[in-house]
Amino acid sequence: MSFERITPHLSSDTVDSVETAILKAEHDQVKRAGRLHWVHWFIVGASFLLTLGAWYLVKSQEDEKRTLRFEKEAEQVVGLVSERMQKYEDALWAGVAAIRSQSHGIDYREWKLYSESLKIDVKYPGINGIGVIYHVPPADISAFLARERIARPDFNVHPAHDRGEFWPITYIEPVRANAAAVGLDMAHEANRHTAAKKARDTGKAQITGPIVLVQDAERTPGFLFYAPFYRGGTRHTVDERRENFVGLVYAPFIFKKLMEGVLAKENRRVGIRISDGADVLYDENIAEVAGFDPRPLFRKTIQVHEYGRVWDFQISSKLSFRHDETSRQPWLILAGGIVIDSLLLGLFVVLARSNRRALSFADRMSNQYQAQANRLSNIIENAVDGLVTVTEEGLVDSFNPACERIFGYRAEEAIGLHISRLIAGSEVEVEDEDGDGDKEIQNIGELLFLTSAIGVTRSGDRFPIDLSFSEITIDGRHLFSGIVRDITERDKAEKEILRSNLELERFAYVASHDLQEPLRMVSNFTELLRREYGDGLDSTAQKYIDYTCQASGRMQALVSDLLDYSRADSDSTGFEEFDSGEAVAVVLRGFEEQFEESGADVKVGALPVIFAGKMRFSRLLQNLVGNAVKYRDPGRRLSIQIDAKDQGSEWWFSIRDTGIGIMPQYLNQIFVLFKRLHRKDEITGTGMGLAICVKIVESFGGRIWAESEFGSGSVFYFSIPKSATQRGAR
Ligand code: ADP
Repeated sequence: MSFERITPHLSSDTVDSVETAILKAEHDQVKRAGRLHWVHWFIVGASFLLTLGAWYLVKSQEDEKRTLRFEKEAEQVVGLVSERMQKYEDALWAGVAAIRSQSHGIDYREWKLYSESLKIDVKYPGINGIGVIYHVPPADISAFLARERIARPDFNVHPAHDRGEFWPITYIEPVRANAAAVGLDMAHEANRHTAAKKARDTGKAQITGPIVLVQDAERTPGFLFYAPFYRGGTRHTVDERRENFVGLVYAPFIFKKLMEGVLAKENRRVGIRISDGADVLYDENIAEVAGFDPRPLFRKTIQVHEYGRVWDFQISSKLSFRHDETSRQPWLILAGGIVIDSLLLGLFVVLARSNRRALSFADRMSNQYQAQANRLSNIIENAVDGLVTVTEEGLVDSFNPACERIFGYRAEEAIGLHISRLIAGSEVEVEDEDGDGDKEIQNIGELLFLTSAIGVTRSGDRFPIDLSFSEITIDGRHLFSGIVRDITERDKAEKEILRSNLELERFAYVASHDLQEPLRMVSNFTELLRREYGDGLDSTAQKYIDYTCQASGRMQALVSDLLDYSRADSDSTGFEEFDSGEAVAVVLRGFEEQFEESGADVKVGALPVIFAGKMRFSRLLQNLVGNAVKYRDPGRRLSIQIDAKDQGSEWWFSIRDTGIGIMPQYLNQIFVLFKRLHRKDEITGTGMGLAICVKIVESFGGRIWAESEFGSGSVFYFSIPKSATQRGAR
């Protein structure tokens, strides 16, 4: 049977280097992940820009809305003032209409009634009063005064001036608050006079520039509001108007009051400052006014043309506006965004750091594994025994240098070969397919049962090997891992030992056998010498003869034991089935005399039928019982107990005595040839009895051992296998 060498498509080296490259690339990738990468910065940067964008968007929307609200509130304030002025104008024109409705013109009493019906203080807050100014040419002044003094004798026109015409305030209601104004001539002062004339010429309501009203004790800015009336109703040209002009319905205003009237109830968030040219008419934008904002969010100037005057409305947002309109939202968005960005950056840093930590941990681990792997491969590389792994298909997967030495293949040659090319024969029962005498491996699992086999080198040489295979799984692959040892040398040495042992035994046998005869002669003749001539010899000569007798006796015992020893296992084929109890009984009979002499008590338990050499078994028992008697304690009665115990595949025999016992340190030594624990003059012996026992027991396939308590007694055990197969080939 032959196996083709199978070449793998990809050598394992190539696979390893590809895997290493992939691992290295992954390692580098993880290492890069341990640093802050441009992607991280990009994400953080983009997120920050988004935050800024969101902040800017929300902020500009808020600003826009705020501006719109300010604009609206500013327009509203201006609108309110204009509306109120409109209302006052309406009151003036109503006055004009009231005068016109009286065909004779209006008198003091009628005006009083009319003005009371107006309910100025309720309906027109801010207005100081409503009155009538007549235009009186110089020629008519006396008649005018005379007429007015009928109802009011102290009526007077004042102050004196040289304008050549009179515009006296004739009626004014409520008169009490305006007493100082009664009779005041508008012509005395240019501002009042100019506006009055302008009202006359345009036919429209007009107001004066800022003046200080005579009735205002505080002397704050004010103005007069005029509405002209003509004879015969409305006139359309300046000339007609001048010709038919009668007078003016007028209302004095103290600006402060007007504004309070207009705006008092409004919960305004803007402050106004109204000026007429360089004159400030009204000003809320000063520190004394509650809610003034020294750095207003918004400020705006609106120019309004009011009844012949140009008023500048300067409108500034107040603190309440700032308070209401300062939205935290954009700043919250910005702060929130920055916090999130920082957290994101922190997260990246933490992630990168833990990546680095994981990598360094992995590095440490892999270094440790590498060191372990190095150690292992060192062990494998330098192992004295061959280490080989085999796949399930029977192909060599790895081959260490010791294998290279043993089999003569280089590893790369051997890898891929079928194991049968290396291990040809075996001791297990496998088929010899090609009839070359080798029982070949059929099934790869058989490897597990092989303990020795025949190795085949690259050059075809065959040699004995010891094997030990086991199953392993590496990376999910099922493999057989084996240790191979070349036992050529050991085999040789064992054979040599066997051969020299045999020679030695043969020599011992021959020597002891051949020595017996001359020894017997020496002993017999010495005995003869003593008997025949003993009486004639002096005591010294007799003593010498005694010594010679003793020595030759000992020598005989030694030689006889030596002969026994060398023959102890020679009769290895003489196995038979016999009753060990009977054999023991025969042996004990031989000791009866000694038992009686020593008063020994001998007990024998149930003994089995065994399969062994009967003669040798008897000799074994003889030695052990003999020792029990020999090494008895003179101070104690000797008991001997012989038993056998079923131990499954073996019988265990025991010979227990109550003798002197053996010290524990000598328990093993006593089985060694010639080893004795006593001097020959104390207790006689050759030191071979137990050595012979060992040989006999081993020839049965068993073993012998002893237990003892020094001073109390000893137990000698020996085992005998129950069947011949367990005995092995001896
Ligand atoms: P020996 O010829 O001296 O009896 P053995 O080989 O029979 O030689 O025994 C070796 C030694 O073992 C003995 O010298 C003795 O000290 C010790 N020994 C053997 N059997 C016993 C026993 N039953 N009790 C105590 N000692 C023993």
